[in-house]
Amino acid sequence: MRHLAIVGSGPAGFYTAEAALKQFGDTVRIDIIDRLPTPYGLIRAGVAPDHQSIKAVSKRYDAVARDARVAFFGHVAVGQDVSVAELCGLYDDVILAVGAPLDRPLGVPGDDLPGVLGSAAFVGWYNGHPDFAGLQPPLVARTVAIVGNGNVAIDCARILAKTVQELQDSDIVNHALEPLSQSAVRAVHIVGRRGPHQASFTLKEVGEMGELSRATPLVQAADFPPTEADAGLETGQRRVVEVLRRFAAAGPDAAKPVTIRFDFFRRPVRVVGDGRVEGLEVMRTRLDAAGRAVDSGETEIIPCEMVISAIGYRSAGLEGVPFDAAAGRFANVDGQIAPGLWCVGWARRGPTGTIGTNRQDGFALVERLAATGANGDTGGSKAGRVGLEALLGERGVTVARFADWEKIDAAEVARARPGAPREKFASLDALRTHFSR
Ligand code: NAP
Repeated sequence: MRHLAIVGSGPAGFYTAEAALKQFGDTVRIDIIDRLPTPYGLIRAGVAPDHQSIKAVSKRYDAVARDARVAFFGHVAVGQDVSVAELCGLYDDVILAVGAPLDRPLGVPGDDLPGVLGSAAFVGWYNGHPDFAGLQPPLVARTVAIVGNGNVAIDCARILAKTVQELQDSDIVNHALEPLSQSAVRAVHIVGRRGPHQASFTLKEVGEMGELSRATPLVQAADFPPTEADAGLETGQRRVVEVLRRFAAAGPDAAKPVTIRFDFFRRPVRVVGDGRVEGLEVMRTRLDAAGRAVDSGETEIIPCEMVISAIGYRSAGLEGVPFDAAAGRFANVDGQIAPGLWCVGWARRGPTGTIGTNRQDGFALVERLAATGANGDTGGSKAGRVGLEALLGERGVTVARFADWEKIDAAEVARARPGAPREKFASLDALRTHFSR
């Protein structure tokens, strides 16, 4: 028997488990460990609440979780309740699929002022992640600057710009929907240090900016190179640029009270304010021959009362596990950190790609595991699940099983507002009432 521990129950963790079931058949037992009592990682707490079709992928993960060879150990914090070294002693292979939950700081003066938020915190808040339920973003702001030209920046802008009606059938938590319904925000700036050709948006996400009921996207025609230059782009990027060009041609819509302005070629240099955010100072940039942003020497201040930094994420380190601080992920070679210790998904490659990328990642990792022998390096002598249960029992850790999550799930669905798929429990205490024994 090969005993696998997968730490993290997001897409990377579940795809790896799916691959291991296919690869090892009846000779594997898989324990999926998560610090939260709820599974699915970024599917639950990162994917935008108004993108329910993407969240539906969790149904596929349910089939894995219900497999007799798999057990879910929710509410177990690796690094606190059990160490990585202890897991390595219990399992043939330990796979870290812990994602990249931490914000990369803006790293400019003033980035610690009240009113500066990281996107992980803001997204976690509206998605009901227990770590961020108490965030209280300053929605008295009339203007918000969001730094970054990726899909997370777009998600944050869209949630700020949508009406309550547009969010009604999403699973945004009520603790976010209520303040958003009173929000003073009328202008959102999406600040990118490079141009439309370099933006990391994808087509669907950028297209949605043009379909909002009370908000209009604004793009400056002067930010584009000549149209002929679009021919050199790969297809997906060219389509994104075509949409941005359409926004530039359409201009403002006087009937819509909220604007979402794409401020390309601006690099944040300072958050301005006395005790709270009053503006974002940016340096105008241009591209050098290698496509990097270089300073023009000209600065300007975008007056705003909230700044959201959406410039990418980092993994959290774990005691005893080599970490590549510059890259913000575990130090690894093709997923291997040390014999029997692996990483996968964002914890391996950093925060890039789509959910589907984690499927390829999980399947590739399991091929490598298979190449290390039918019983890892240990000859099948590891205690596996029985050993973990004994250890957690000794320590008085209350484990949330998958059946406990199914109870939470049913309770969340039952208390949903009309039209919404669920109303999440956003505190650990509320979640614990469903499984504490
Ligand atoms: P991302 O796509 O990597 O975008 C990060 C952005 O931050 C880039 O525009 C980058 O600019 C900019 N940036 C980095 N450091 C900066 C700095 N110091 N100052 C100013 N700008 C800086 O990251 P993300 O938006 O966090 O998304 C993470 C991943 O999740 C991506 O793969 C994304 O597609 C995916 N995602 C997908 C969806 C969806 O499919 N609906 C939704 C959300 C997220 P440069 O390009 O110049 O480095």
